[in-house]
Amino acid sequence: MNNLESMYRSMIMDHSKNPRNKGLKGFKSFHLNNPSCGDDITVEAKIVDGVIVEIHHDGVGCSICCSSASIMSEVLQGKTVLEAQELIDEFSKMLMGKEFSEKLEEASIYQGVSKFPARIKCATLPWKALEKVIKDE
Ligand code: ZN
Repeated sequence: MNNLESMYRSMIMDHSKNPRNKGLKGFKSFHLNNPSCGDDITVEAKIVDGVIVEIHHDGVGCSICCSSASIMSEVLQGKTVLEAQELIDEFSKMLMGKEFSEKLEEASIYQGVSKFPARIKCATLPWKALEKVIKDE
């Protein structure tokens, strides 16, 4: 394991143990689960004039899924619905092992997950849930 991988791993453990924006407030939400791993998550967003002003999540899952929900909530909060959709697409591309935008910021720590097909759904689940929430905005 090189230094970068160990840094990524500690960031994932940090967000998994101390998730940011955890706990639902009653905004528009979407629930998704990943039976192969046991991940079960709900993501909600408060959207005002096309801008995602708040993102919250709740649920249970593996460290990849829980940390990804936490990081997603930080990276996409404050973005417009269009920007968020673009970043969700970039996140999926990254997990398919393709080139991706540096705008993913902290979320780029999941790039190594593309080498583990069984875990890709763990990382994308919260992003896909948010995609459903913002779909009709
Ligand atoms: Zn998982």
